[in-house]
Amino acid sequence: MNTHNPGRIDASLRSAGARVDIRDAELLLAHVLDKPRSWLFAHGDDALSPDAAERFDALIARCAAGEPVAYLIGRRGFWKFDLAVDAATLIPRPETELLVELALARLSNEASLRVADLGTGSGAIALALAHERPRAQVIATDASSGALAIARANAQALGLANIEFRHGDWFMPLAGERFDLIASNPPYIADDDPHLQELRFEPGSALASGADGLDAIRVIARDAPAHLVPGGWLLLEHGWEQGAAARALLSAAGFMQVSTERDLEDRDRVTLGRMGG
Ligand code: GLN
Repeated sequence: MNTHNPGRIDASLRSAGARVDIRDAELLLAHVLDKPRSWLFAHGDDALSPDAAERFDALIARCAAGEPVAYLIGRRGFWKFDLAVDAATLIPRPETELLVELALARLSNEASLRVADLGTGSGAIALALAHERPRAQVIATDASSGALAIARANAQALGLANIEFRHGDWFMPLAGERFDLIASNPPYIADDDPHLQELRFEPGSALASGADGLDAIRVIARDAPAHLVPGGWLLLEHGWEQGAAARALLSAAGFMQVSTERDLEDRDRVTLGRMGG
């Protein structure tokens, strides 16, 4: 600590970096100062006002206690976006970009296709698909009205008009409708998985799904055929040990071309299948 001038930006970051990951400290200080993170590096010898120092300290304390930085700053990067997130939404994960890429590979830019994203949370998947396929019509559902409020705000901030949000569990708000592609990152962690303790700040309803974590995937696989056009695709994110179970569920529901794709860490992450016809 620089005792000569303890209020300097570089000194404050150094001492915060002893308590939390230095990158997290930088994100939090940039948030407090309302500047991009890169600004900090050119301003290390600027003084930190007592008010900013106090707010920074409070955030560092919460971060050190395990609260995710995404919630502390209310933002998380996903795809090409800086999305708003809050405690009602799962924090988007980089591995979910695999699901987006696999969906895009099955969505032509030419036709005005219909796409559904079930349990959209912050809207991450639906927003990426709507942005990359401006001619598609995307409908995103969520059982949490708090999550939908955030997802709608994200769509508005991105100026996306080809996306619509509906309140309800899985297919409930989609009665009688069919889609060319259905995507979902549902909850898939087993109810008694100790990993949930690390994720305690995120909504349990977005994470845990029954004794084996597969309850939501069972419902979605069972009900998806009635909501897909012939040749339509279902893509589901799941846990790295659930590939075989997810493939079995899709095959049992009548899907063809069922396969599992691996994420950047080379772990099973997305299972997909196609309706015949
Ligand atoms: N991928 C998250 C995790 O294990 C879980 C997300 C989910 O359940 N959909 O940290």
